[in-house]
Amino acid sequence: MSVHPTAPVATTDRSQALFERAGQVIPGGVNSPVRAFRAVGGTPRFVASARGPWLTDVDGHRYVDLLCSWGPMILGHAHPDVQAAVQAAAADGFSYGTPTEREVVLAEELVARVAPLEQVRLVSSGTEATMSAIRLARGFTRRPIVVKFAGHYHGHVDALLASAGSGLATFALPDTPGVTGTAAADTIVAPYNDPEALAEIFAVHGDRIACLITEAAAGNMGVVPPVPGFTQAMRRITREHGALLITDEVMTGFRCSASGWWGHEGLGLEDAPDLMTFGKVMGGGFPAAAFGGRAEVMAHLAPAGPVYQAGTLSGNPVATAAGLATLRGCTPEVYARVEEAARVVREAASAALTAASVPHLVNTASSMFSIFFTAGDVPRVTNYDEARRQDLGAFRAFFHAMLDRGVHLPPSAFEAWFLSASHDEDALGRILDALPEAARAAAEGAGQA
Ligand SMILES: *Cc1c(COP(=O)(O)O)cnc(C)c1O
Repeated sequence: MSVHPTAPVATTDRSQALFERAGQVIPGGVNSPVRAFRAVGGTPRFVASARGPWLTDVDGHRYVDLLCSWGPMILGHAHPDVQAAVQAAAADGFSYGTPTEREVVLAEELVARVAPLEQVRLVSSGTEATMSAIRLARGFTRRPIVVKFAGHYHGHVDALLASAGSGLATFALPDTPGVTGTAAADTIVAPYNDPEALAEIFAVHGDRIACLITEAAAGNMGVVPPVPGFTQAMRRITREHGALLITDEVMTGFRCSASGWWGHEGLGLEDAPDLMTFGKVMGGGFPAAAFGGRAEVMAHLAPAGPVYQAGTLSGNPVATAAGLATLRGCTPEVYARVEEAARVVREAASAALTAASVPHLVNTASSMFSIFFTAGDVPRVTNYDEARRQDLGAFRAFFHAMLDRGVHLPPSAFEAWFLSASHDEDALGRILDALPEAARAAAEGAGQA
């Protein structure tokens, strides 16, 4: 008996009908662009339920989930401890607009785990966290300019959408209408992993730069970790010019280790950022995120200081319960399991692609990884220019072959693959069974625009 049948997914009638209805009332039929499958074509699967590593769509098909809600579901879907915490919290009401004990406990949990955090403020999304952090940096330094890296994504904050990763990479959008010239004019985009270019930008504009914001390890143009020494270089250059360093750990935080990329990279406090942002895992699938850092900087936030920031649902009782239960569930054993599952999938995918003669590169950042379907001679991927040189036809064919065999990858060549501690032998077996055929499909799809 096969425990992981690979029967092709036959029909998508119900997903297709919902997608058509959605298109009438929701722009593009989705509430976040990459979900629409525009980069890969076909019908996005409308999910009805999820448990452990499995998604079940409205047509009744089961998929091994390699999206994990784009990162948060590190324990797997509907984890019993998180479910119990959420149900218990909901039984006490949903939102009060007053302070609550659980907010204090969650803030203490974050501060205890991540050494550079002295204080944090809770918000509801990663976008809010980075938006608030750069406002605070500008208010603290009384300077206008934000420096960001090409291919890094920090949510859909106006000032941070220039050359951003994620959906903008997927759709090859250089910028977006709706962001005014003034908002964009105070943003400088630097090439990632290039300390000389960064030093030059600071040499010219240094006294007007409020902050440099960086993904702790980039994950929104595919996975591109900092090259050795680059994190320290960012710290040295910003410090020399009196600018703040903001490390965006919305994706890496509590996924790459119990203390995020910060803990994984293992640098000393002399290399600590001034501010950090978190989201995804810390909300356990609910809207909870945070920004925090040095108390001296955080003291500039209202009501302690003059920089305004607020939120009706900030520190929401149900979301904080989900976040706390998730963080507490992230034991050393959980991280070991996620890393091992990621290693198995990464190595099997690379072996299958090699066997089918599909050019590719694999980048990792702890348990996060992605596969670049490289086109032409790209020896490595350390920045956005290199990340963009992919054979999207090969990826598209690979994606659909996996989907047809019951494995749901991120529907873009520019995203990380996410595993969870619930990806057991059954789920991994389904993936390993699907890979050889998918790799052959990728070889056939290569070069087709
Ligand atoms: C997902 C992400 C964000 C945005 O978070 P949202 O909750 O989607 O607003 C910001 N920064 C990074 C690095 C992310 O991966």
